[in-house]
Amino acid sequence: MSIEVKNVTKIYGEQKALNDVSFEIGGGEIVGFLGPNGAGKSTMMKIITCFIPQTSGIIKVCGYDVTEDPIDVKRNVGYLPEHNPLYLDMYVKEYLDFVGGVYKIDNRRARVKEMVDMVGLGLEQNKKIGALSKGYRQRVGLAQAMIHNPKVLILDEPTTGLDPNQLEEIRNLIKEIGKEKTIMLSTHIMQEVEAICDKTIIVNKGVIVANETTKELQQRNKQGIVVTVEFDKPIDNKQLEKIEGVTKIAQKSETVLVMEIKADNVRNNIFQFAMKHDLTVLTMQKETQSLENVFKSLTK
Ligand code: ADP
Ligand code: MG
Repeated sequence: MSIEVKNVTKIYGEQKALNDVSFEIGGGEIVGFLGPNGAGKSTMMKIITCFIPQTSGIIKVCGYDVTEDPIDVKRNVGYLPEHNPLYLDMYVKEYLDFVGGVYKIDNRRARVKEMVDMVGLGLEQNKKIGALSKGYRQRVGLAQAMIHNPKVLILDEPTTGLDPNQLEEIRNLIKEIGKEKTIMLSTHIMQEVEAICDKTIIVNKGVIVANETTKELQQRNKQGIVVTVEFDKPIDNKQLEKIEGVTKIAQKSETVLVMEIKADNVRNNIFQFAMKHDLTVLTMQKETQSLENVFKSLTK
C-alpha cells in the first residue's frame, strides 16, 4: 500500500475537521479526493505530508509512519499545496535548484534540467516565476513536488483557477506522471475525476462518504438514460409516450423534450417514430451528468 489512513481524526480548537477517516491507496493508482469546500481535503493532505499532526489515528506512507518516521515519509512523498505557494522573485531554475538542495539530491543541475523537460517548462525556464502564467506556475509546482523522485504525489487542487486549455494540459501531464507514481489529488470538480482518476474517495464534513472506482461511482444512482430531443415541429407529449422504452417525458419548449429512456437503443425508436409522423429530429443529446448527481446526493 502507498498510503494507509486508519481512524484519523483532526480537531482544530473546537472543530472536528476529520472524523474517524480510514482509507487505503495502492501503488500506481491515481485517486481523486473529492469533496465540497471545507470538507477536510487539505487537512488530510497536510497530515499525510507531515505538515500538521493528526489528533488521533495512524497514517503510513510507503510503510513509514508519519509520526514515527517523518523524514522517510517526506523522502517518499511530493506535495503540491493548495494555491501553489512559490517564491515569485526567484527564477524557475534557481527555485528548482533550491528545492533540490533542500532534499539534498545529487547531481542537481542535471535533475533540474530533467524536471524542466518533464513538465514542459523549456521556453519559460529562464524567467522569473512571477512572470509566468498560472498554468506554467502550476508546472513549476509539479516539478518541485517531483524533484526528489518520490513514489507518491499529493496534489491539492492542482487545476483550480486554470483556463480550459491550461486545464487540459495539466490534466494530461498528471495522467502521464500517474503512469509511474501513486497520485492523490483533491478537487471539487466531478469531470476532473472522470477524466483522470481510477478511484474516487468522497469526503464530506470530515467523513468519508464514498470510496470506490470512478466507474462504480458513475453507475450509482443511475436512473435510466436521459436524452434531450429537438423536433422541427411542435409535438404532443401524449403521442411520444407511446414510444416503446420511453419511461418519462418533460417538455422544455414546444419542440424540445427531455425523455428518460430504458436503454440506449430506445433512441432508434424515437427516430422511427419521428419518421412515421413526418417529423424531423434536429438534435438528440444524451446527458452525462450522472457523477455530478451522485456527488450532490452524497454531500448535501
Ligand atoms: P477543504 O480542503 O476540503 O476545503 P479544509 O481541510 O481546508 O477543507 O478545512 C476543513 C475544515 O477545517 C474547514 O471547516 C476549515 O475551516 C477548518 N480548518 C482548516 N484549517 C484550519 C485551521 N488551521 N484552524 C482552524 N480551522 C481550520
Ligand atoms: Mg482545500
